[in-house]
Amino acid sequence: MSAMVLVVQKFGGTSLADAEKIHRAARRAIRAKLSGQQVVLVVSAMGRTTDDLVKLAQAVCCDPPKRELDMLLTTGEQVSIALMAMAIDAAGHEAISLTAGQLGLVTDSAHTRSRIQRISRDRIDAELAAGKIVIVAGFQGADQAGEITTLGRGASDTTATALAAVLGAKCCEIYTDVDGVYSADPRLVPGARKIDEINYDTMLEMAATGATVMHSRAIEFGKKFQVPIYVRSSMTDAEGTLITAATPGMEAIVVRGVTLREDLAVVAMNGVPNTPGAAARIFSEVAKSNILIDDIVQNLYDGGRVANIGFSTNSSESAEAMAICRRLGKQLGVDGVEIDEGVSKVSAVGLGMRTHSGIAATMFEALAKEKINIDNISTSEIVISCIVRREDGPRALRCLHSAFELDEPREDDIA
Ligand code: ADP
Ligand code: ASP
Ligand code: MG
Repeated sequence: MSAMVLVVQKFGGTSLADAEKIHRAARRAIRAKLSGQQVVLVVSAMGRTTDDLVKLAQAVCCDPPKRELDMLLTTGEQVSIALMAMAIDAAGHEAISLTAGQLGLVTDSAHTRSRIQRISRDRIDAELAAGKIVIVAGFQGADQAGEITTLGRGASDTTATALAAVLGAKCCEIYTDVDGVYSADPRLVPGARKIDEINYDTMLEMAATGATVMHSRAIEFGKKFQVPIYVRSSMTDAEGTLITAATPGMEAIVVRGVTLREDLAVVAMNGVPNTPGAAARIFSEVAKSNILIDDIVQNLYDGGRVANIGFSTNSSESAEAMAICRRLGKQLGVDGVEIDEGVSKVSAVGLGMRTHSGIAATMFEALAKEKINIDNISTSEIVISCIVRREDGPRALRCLHSAFELDEPREDDIA
């Protein structure tokens, strides 16, 4: 028997916000099944459930133990898988809901920010072979000991692409509340344009710098295992955006999108003795606790005798980062440790930057014209980012979108 084609469909929270939307998602899955494909569904928690659960935890405890937070937050997805299975059953088709523990999605033990280590195919294969639509709880995992973990906010996308990779799916479809990936967040930039096709690397950087429409680790799986990812609206049959490997035509476009991250804070140690090993100590300590460092900033002063060493990190992890820096600061004899929570980061992303000079100049000129001050600049092969004051962020995003002519229809748009 030749292997059947398999598709993974993921539905986000807004696409499951009420019973009617759950039925709509169920119908889409059934349609795929009836067309002869095997279907694995990955679902998020309904509507804003996860946010509400986080608030509830904070109302009970100002610093909830991470293990218990995972225990609580994973309930959201568990509600969705059960309801989805019921909706499919009500439509006369067979389905089964599975938690991460039940299917064998194993992660490390870093609660609230775990990483997937392996996914077992056995249970899913058996259920698919029995003709069922398999519904998997997104965002969650189980460590070696069976402890319940989560993969980080927004990570149901990652569950979906990782499953698509392991199962050899023909593609992974991400159904959400926008009809694709745009040149900027359409909620912030009215002139943002839908992108028909984008390569993994550009999308990865857009996601990492603020395009929350996709979880960045989801793109890593897609890229590594060459899974085509479609981002589409759950409400329409519009085409959406295809995320795939780079094609020669894509190179022509210099800046593909602009992004904004508002969930950052800058932690800085002032007066660090400028001796070999100081930075190594700071960053190895921070890394040990699994805190992700976004950008690093270092300024020397006093004739190079001392330095200010800072880094931007997720707001949700900044208090922990601050505590580590305070402890280290005492050992290193620094002047002080500060945290700045009033920052945002705007970025321009595109493969064409590798070969085009002048992108940085365009970016700085556009911000200068708007009288937006730049606190820090970082660049990589395909991204240029500026740290700006939080209140300037949305305005900075809009001015860069225009400066890079992203609101214009373009001839080289890939259909
Ligand atoms: P879901 O619940 O389906 O996972 P998310 O809220 O995580 O949905 O992601 C969809 C949202 O991502 C959109 O409503 C949009 O505001 C936001 N977004 C941010 N940047 C972009 C972008 N570049 N293109 C499209 N949407 C974006
Ligand atoms: N429900 C989780 C969250 O809100 C995961 C997801 O939606 O992707 O972060
Ligand atoms: Mg999401």
